[in-house]
Amino acid sequence: MTMASNTVPGRYWHALGDGRLQCDVCPRYCKLPDGQRGLCFVRAREGDQMVLTTYGRSSGFCIDPIEKKPLNHFLPGTPVLSFGTAGCNLTCKFCQNWDISKAREIDRLNDAAPPEAIARAALRSGCRSVAFTYNDPVIFLEYAVDTAKACRERGLKAVAVTAGYIGPEARIEFYQNMDAANVDLKGFTEDFYHRICGGHLAPVLETLEYLRNHTKVWFEITTLLIPGANDSDEEIRKLSQWIGEKLGPETPLHFSAFHPDYKMTDIANTPAATLTRARRLAREIGLSYVYTGNVHDSEGGSTWCPSCGSLLIERDWYTLGRWGLDGAGHCLKCGHAVPGLFEACPGEWGPRRQPVRLQSAAL
Ligand code: SF4
Repeated sequence: MTMASNTVPGRYWHALGDGRLQCDVCPRYCKLPDGQRGLCFVRAREGDQMVLTTYGRSSGFCIDPIEKKPLNHFLPGTPVLSFGTAGCNLTCKFCQNWDISKAREIDRLNDAAPPEAIARAALRSGCRSVAFTYNDPVIFLEYAVDTAKACRERGLKAVAVTAGYIGPEARIEFYQNMDAANVDLKGFTEDFYHRICGGHLAPVLETLEYLRNHTKVWFEITTLLIPGANDSDEEIRKLSQWIGEKLGPETPLHFSAFHPDYKMTDIANTPAATLTRARRLAREIGLSYVYTGNVHDSEGGSTWCPSCGSLLIERDWYTLGRWGLDGAGHCLKCGHAVPGLFEACPGEWGPRRQPVRLQSAAL
């Protein structure tokens, strides 16, 4: 069988005794007869192998502030070239990017984007990193890894924005090639993952522990709080306790606001007070860097020294203000070392969001 031009052999699968092939990229472990696609839609069985059908195609590029991923401790203030493809391996009813993640038409992938061209475009536009975002890069692992390698060869960082829903073998290669990640921890009950996201909680927790214990990847966690679904005091406390105990209290945690979307249009926007409450609870548990997101809250969006209380990085949405760190990320007042990747002064990208056509940018 001849493969289409955007189709490449897929890694991480094995043959089953009944003639089907099992994809091992993510904990869905799709078992496919010939000609079928997996739940993510972009991986498929062709003959006697698994393939990725969207290699080198993107749904569009945009230069964002790194804080939008969100990453607050990773080259603050710098621009990141962000892109996604199509499909997803979870089925979250609240998906905030559903036009991309639920795309069933590869036609949407209108930007031809080989890895080298992406890295060159990022470099020429002054970006410090490239982010795989908008949909989950786990499902286009081969493309994400090649792009990350092309970036690193040019001194650029690679950033994954992901739900952490990845198999144990695949995550080794995936994270070997990433410098930073924002991992969505969508809730802290199996019921929420099962009923709302069509997945399971345990593999996500395994990924987070793997990141902490076996990699040098800088990572931050985001939890989108949905009124009445995952925002109880009890759930927020349990989630924060688990992070503190298993990942360490200095792991940054972002509580983000939901807006009605996709199949969850009957629930109102998350009130700012819910995010403030969650931040307070997580700080009471002992987490040092807890942020609110998607709301106007300068206090909750800024970085504060957990040792002396000084303002370290002032944020107003994605605009940075006062800066209280030295070049190595120490508090200028008390010397406390803040984890992450910092430079002597912040970048100056600001809150801009700039769409980029790769063809015209830098091929
Ligand atoms: S990556 Fe796609 S095909 Fe593979 S197991 Fe996950 S959903 Fe199924």
